[in-house]
Amino acid sequence: MDCVFCRIVAGEMPAWIVDQDDHTVAFLDINPVNRGHLLVLPRRHCSSLADLPTALHAPLMAAVRRLAMAIGPALGAGGCNVFVNNGTVAGQVVDHLHFHVLPRFPGDGIVFEKRRRPSAGDDFSGVRDLIRDALDRPGDG
Ligand SMILES: [Zn+2]
Repeated sequence: MDCVFCRIVAGEMPAWIVDQDDHTVAFLDINPVNRGHLLVLPRRHCSSLADLPTALHAPLMAAVRRLAMAIGPALGAGGCNVFVNNGTVAGQVVDHLHFHVLPRFPGDGIVFEKRRRPSAGDDFSGVRDLIRDALDRPGDG
């Protein structure tokens, strides 16, 4: 296994671990976008959201929430961004699913890519229907 996050989970590589439980580990990103930038991941190797076993959905989200709630009182963050770079095209660098919890501070200057402006005639029904038709139903996975 040549996965750097699995090696951290196994204790074979050092990391600034903040929290861990039976299913998840959270540590500081060594290339932080902001102070306190956290990565939260399942102990079990999963490449992407598609690979995440159903039994780990709730424990992983609970860990993400717990950490997101801690950074305000801990660091004075006014909020946070929570995101997953799911797939190489989305910027995923390490092939082990991980949530980013990015503390945000007033005036921190972080700006995400600007969005396309909506126009009056936009019709999103086609893309909406494509996504609806592809949705996994409860119990899938
Ligand atoms: Zn891994």
